Amino acid sequence: MVGILRRLEEAGHETWCVGGAIRDALLGDPQQDMDLATSARPEEVRQLFRRTIAVGIEHGTVGVFDELGVLHEVTTFRRDVTTDGRHAEVEFGLSLEEDLARRDLTINAIAYHPLHRTWRDPFGGRDDLHHGLVRAVGDPASRFREDRLRILRAIRFAARLNFRIDAATWSAACAQASDTANLSAERVRDEWSKSIRTTRSLDRLVGQWLESGVAAVWLPELLPSASWQRSGGPDVVLITALVCSACGPVMRRFRGSNAEIRRAEAIDRGPARPQSGAPVEVRRWMAVVGEATSDLVTLATWRGLREDGWIREVAGVTARGEATSRGELAVNGDDLRTAGVAAGPAIGRALEQLLDAVLEEPALNTREQLLALARSVV
Ligand code: ATP
Ligand code: MG
Repeated sequence: MVGILRRLEEAGHETWCVGGAIRDALLGDPQQDMDLATSARPEEVRQLFRRTIAVGIEHGTVGVFDELGVLHEVTTFRRDVTTDGRHAEVEFGLSLEEDLARRDLTINAIAYHPLHRTWRDPFGGRDDLHHGLVRAVGDPASRFREDRLRILRAIRFAARLNFRIDAATWSAACAQASDTANLSAERVRDEWSKSIRTTRSLDRLVGQWLESGVAAVWLPELLPSASWQRSGGPDVVLITALVCSACGPVMRRFRGSNAEIRRAEAIDRGPARPQSGAPVEVRRWMAVVGEATSDLVTLATWRGLREDGWIREVAGVTARGEATSRGELAVNGDDLRTAGVAAGPAIGRALEQLLDAVLEEPALNTREQLLALARSVV
């Protein structure tokens, strides 16, 4: 990375390390990939290096590979121009100072020059890191008016780093929370999923979405914090299901994939658990919830219901290979037709009856017994 920076500097372009990697390095969590801010224009950057890719050329960002093959983002100094609160619109700027001034939070607006070993930290980002404080760069109300996503970003970094949010920043966030309605669902969804992936505490994250008023706009299903005492995790659907009264509508609102929406709706449909831990009840429940079984078990575990015998029984049913769906029966529709069941809806009804019998008594799930049973019921 220093090689890339040196090359740019030797070509006469002022270049600094900036952004998240500097923040994380100062917190003792060095990152492989570094963001560089430079006075060079994107086409000049591309001419200087052999291996580049146009990561976000319209935003002035060129990806450059270092000698180890790690990709670093090199972005031309930018400054904010008029914005509508939905996107921060930027144009090329003239100086590092301008570039730092258009960043969202002081802890994200620190620059380091590894050749000169100097810092540029005009907004006191290092002090805020030291004190565990999330604070907007400049006047928080104006910064949020430029781009409302910054409200969600402030909450995300506070949750991830376990930092407090500065009082003026917080009141501006609360005052403008309802204006986040203008953001695109995609941007909000990305923030929500990054937040639940990285938060140290779900309680804290959920609490701030609720208190700020952002939840009222984007996540009315969010439940008041219920002491989940867990950190975040990578499964957006499951964690959303944990902290919301319903996650299907959330996945729809956030334009999730069809698979995500289907999965979320199956979780919502439930029932969340069998009526009891009796094996037959557990098998009947598994037949009803189908593919949602393991999600519902995970959720129950996260909610601290581990002591419930039914969770162990689900594992037992699976381990013993007991059938809980038509597909696991020892006969299929073709077998039934051959055995004399009339083609058409009668086949489906017969399979349903066979499954019902097998749920009650798993030992019945052999070809001979099921064919005999089929003949007797039709
Ligand atoms: P991470 O990638 O670990 O989530 P990051 O700080 O690198 O954290 P990015 O979204 O990758 O976050 O953005 C890189 C930098 O760009 C940030 O550190 C910040 O300085 C600036 N930035 C990103 N989004 C905005 C925004 N909406 N408004 C102002 N500045 C922003
Ligand atoms: Mg980043």
